[in-house]
Amino acid sequence: MSAIHRALKKHFGFDSFRSQQQEDAVKAVLKGDRDVFVCMPTGAGKSLVYQLPALMSSGITLVISPLIALIQDQVEHLKALNVPARSINSKLPSAERRQILADLESESPRLKLLYITPEMVASPSFQPCLSSLCSRGLLAYLAVDEAHCVSQWGHDFRPDYLKLGDLRSRLRDVPCVALTATAPKRVQEDIERSLKLRSPLLFATPVFRKNLKYDVIFRDLLPDPYVHLLAFAKEALGGNTAEKGCGIVYCRTRESCEEVAHKLTKLGISAKPYHAGLKAGDRTESQADWMADKVPVIVATISFGMGVDKANVRFVVHWNVAKSLASYYQESGRAGRDGLPSSCRIYYSPKDRDQLGFLIRKEITRKQEKRGSQKEQDKAPILDFEAMVAFCEQEG
Ligand code: ADP
Ligand code: MG
Repeated sequence: MSAIHRALKKHFGFDSFRSQQQEDAVKAVLKGDRDVFVCMPTGAGKSLVYQLPALMSSGITLVISPLIALIQDQVEHLKALNVPARSINSKLPSAERRQILADLESESPRLKLLYITPEMVASPSFQPCLSSLCSRGLLAYLAVDEAHCVSQWGHDFRPDYLKLGDLRSRLRDVPCVALTATAPKRVQEDIERSLKLRSPLLFATPVFRKNLKYDVIFRDLLPDPYVHLLAFAKEALGGNTAEKGCGIVYCRTRESCEEVAHKLTKLGISAKPYHAGLKAGDRTESQADWMADKVPVIVATISFGMGVDKANVRFVVHWNVAKSLASYYQESGRAGRDGLPSSCRIYYSPKDRDQLGFLIRKEITRKQEKRGSQKEQDKAPILDFEAMVAFCEQEG
């Protein structure tokens, strides 16, 4: 067993890495000669990429994360594993804060991971501590989690993240690890530039997983789209095999959820709708029946699926086009979590494209009117949507 695997087991109790990417990224961070950029989907285990090296190196790893709530979760989780991790933030009782600062000032601090928000990085009260850690060469790594927050193109821009550029300049010799789940090219470039990453090693999950088959069908050209959908669902579910599989059909509106679920059921595959217009009890029942494999198909708006982790999803259909490739990737990625072959299909329609395009533009105008001004990055949702449309039209 290698030292890395031993440490993985000892500190986190894991027998193996989640993926080759996770392992390769950990090794690259440990090597410490290059900055590292990690772009993997939510749940892929990005935290470990800096946490394990932090525990295997001498010194302290400074972790930047956007929200105190996220930080508290992580720190509690690490404390439960007996990992010396703490956070300094505005909500911290002053006694605890003094205790942490005293440890950091001591000759050989016990702390291995220090979590802070970008606001704290810039706050005057934290500067003496930071300077002292720097000048004594006690910082092992700088990890910037949710790094897309630095980009005005991202969906989660936080102005305070821009101050991390200054921090980075002060920590020139400390290797930096940037992590995010969402990074279109533009956002990725912003991150590299703002965090002053020097030709970072990139670890990215291939956008479309190997066991997923993708296609696009032009819905308007079909004599009966529901019959077409039925045939697809039947094939994906594997006919009458004993092994149970299930599927998700995403629709934009409540009405189409109802309609598609009704049609599928009538044609012979039982399907239930799931959307915000249902009574809470009915919605929970739809989800529970689907989770328990009582009903093979759930027909839902995109609110469905957050946090749903079901292994045997054999197909994900988009009855209406998604609003961006990133959303499509995330939504369709709920198929085939067990690694078995699964299918993802978009039933594309130009009419539908125009409707969604209209809604996206309307939303932008609404925001601009509320703000009273226009910004370059307001266009991002349109560009994202255009990329989605280009994907469909070229596939079809
Ligand atoms: P991300 O930040 O990429 O969304 P997290 O770092 O929060 O993901 O990890 C998601 C979950 O995966 C956590 O519960 C974590 O404990 C678990 N995990 C991470 N690495 C492994 C591994 N090698 N084996 C098993 N579980 C893991
Ligand atoms: Mg994370």
